[in-house]
Amino acid sequence: PLSIRGLRKSFGDNEVLRGIDLHIPAGQFVAIVGKSGCGKSTLLRLIAGLEKIDAGSISFGDAAIQPEDIRVMFQEPRLLPWARVLSNVEVGLGRDRSSGDAHARAEKALTEVGLVDKRDQWPSVLSGGQKQRVALARALVSRPRVLAFDEPLGALDALTRISMQRLLERVWRDQGFTAILVTHDVAEAVALADRVLVIDEGRVAHDVMVNVARPRERGSAELASLEGSILSHLL
Ligand code: ATP
Ligand code: MG
Repeated sequence: PLSIRGLRKSFGDNEVLRGIDLHIPAGQFVAIVGKSGCGKSTLLRLIAGLEKIDAGSISFGDAAIQPEDIRVMFQEPRLLPWARVLSNVEVGLGRDRSSGDAHARAEKALTEVGLVDKRDQWPSVLSGGQKQRVALARALVSRPRVLAFDEPLGALDALTRISMQRLLERVWRDQGFTAILVTHDVAEAVALADRVLVIDEGRVAHDVMVNVARPRERGSAELASLEGSILSHLL
């Protein structure tokens, strides 16, 4: 479980997070929505330890979570252009990159995202969606306990987005990590997540459970009405 208490973060006199309180059980899929500039990326960066907190605490329950147990995927794939696809995935292993099974683990992660046939390609020849799948394999390869996504599908066309949404849901279901997805797409949040958080004025303004059995019925009336009520909080 991930417990956040009284989390605050300012940049100069810009008070971005003003007391975030949040408990996320292990394995939950949480989506975070909110107006542009409300602090969603800042919150992810704090959870991932990429930035220092001003006040409050972030803890991961009894078992101490190490930095390598948390991975973040961004809107841009951030692949190394001078490294082939397989090596890019191995980067996600961190210190374990030099271990004997690094290649095998990276190949397995590439297989999970359906790209093992591209293992020896350079990133520059891949499509945008393929690059994001390599970035997902790099995030998965270390078997993180928490995977945070900062609008990972934001730059993709509609069809690629749908196939990536299905892939995300599948790997999450297969691997059981805790997923925290920042998205500006409320329909996506409702379709993928167990729970949708609306951030406003630096706090969790709404915390909505999505009680729909998996696999989801796309476009069901229940999802549409949830989407409508979350949107009404955002506008
Ligand atoms: P978007 O939906 O547009 O991605 P967001 O909710 O992710 O927005 P953040 O990127 O977290 O918003 O930014 C929240 C606020 O903090 C903004 O006012 C931003 O200008 C400010 N901010 C973020 N990072 C920094 C930084 N490193 N230095 C100064 N200000 C920052
Ligand atoms: Mg952001």
